[in-house]
Amino acid sequence: MHLARFPRRFIAHLPTPLERLDRLSAELGGPEIWIKRDDCTGLSTGGNKTRKLEFLMAEAELQKADIVMTQGAIQSNHARQTAAFAAKLGMGCHILLENRTGSQDKNYINNGNVLLDHLHGATTEIRPGGGDMNAELEQAADRLRATGKKVYTIPGGGSNPTGALGYVNCAFELVGQANDRGLKIDHIVHATGSAGTQAGLIVGLKAMNAQIPLLGIGVRAPKPTQEENVFKLARATAEKLGCADVVAREDVVANTDYVGEGYGIPTESGMEAIQMFASLESILLDPVYSAKGAAGFIDLIRKGHFKKGERVVFLHTGGSAALFGYDKAFDFTGSWQTV
Ligand SMILES: *Cc1c(COP(=O)(O)O)cnc(C)c1O
Repeated sequence: MHLARFPRRFIAHLPTPLERLDRLSAELGGPEIWIKRDDCTGLSTGGNKTRKLEFLMAEAELQKADIVMTQGAIQSNHARQTAAFAAKLGMGCHILLENRTGSQDKNYINNGNVLLDHLHGATTEIRPGGGDMNAELEQAADRLRATGKKVYTIPGGGSNPTGALGYVNCAFELVGQANDRGLKIDHIVHATGSAGTQAGLIVGLKAMNAQIPLLGIGVRAPKPTQEENVFKLARATAEKLGCADVVAREDVVANTDYVGEGYGIPTESGMEAIQMFASLESILLDPVYSAKGAAGFIDLIRKGHFKKGERVVFLHTGGSAALFGYDKAFDFTGSWQTV
């Protein structure tokens, strides 16, 4: 499999570090915990969308787009990384932001990722929750095209076969790093949403016959829907690479027990995960994705699903900028003390 056949705009800081988390491992008393730091991809506070955008934005450039458009939730990390990438390439960027949680909190609507969207020069418009955002995106793009703009649209999360190539590449990178240091990986775990990360990883892992089970922890859809979305995208990505049959339905496994009330609504176990990663390892998670992924990861370790003696890699997909849109989810009144 030769990814250099596909156009790519190199901008991410790669390879991202692969590090052992000694204090978290000791705290949980289970497997040896490792982390793949895709929160450190380098673009405007990092995150997993940058790998996808390397392939997507190269396509936009080839098509001579003068503006890219995408959509996401208000605190979308994908929107922020798209805005930053577009700025770097001197392209315009317009984003449709969906208020999926219905929150009217000032920081949720203006701070965190939204602040960065605007700093990178993107324009934004808001939509109420529950619409067909990819359809809205195409309609808005057509309105812009009618004014003479050359528009390149990117689906939510950058999750199509082009974007997923970024995570095929991540699978190669991660297994290469593990091979180089004699690290036998028993499991990989990460947060899964719009499916491109898990789809790309599974294609890469299967294509190189790595024999490492991959588990996605869902943040939105129920298990059958999530697994079907990932499987469909994995098949389409494999087809693009010329190895359509490399992924079987049973290779795609998602656990959606940690979504809580819904997308973008913080959970108690997620908030515990944020505090554990921050206080034990100085690693920042976000309440929407990586915290719920880590909450599932921690709970499965506590339940003995991942065992002592095993080596488990948590792929950190980023998202820390969203913390500043979610300050109301924390209570640190007890942290102010006079000594
Ligand atoms: C988008 C995102 C995910 C999920 O990745 P998908 O490819 O959409 O499944 C996980 N974590 C963070 C921080 C994200 O921004």
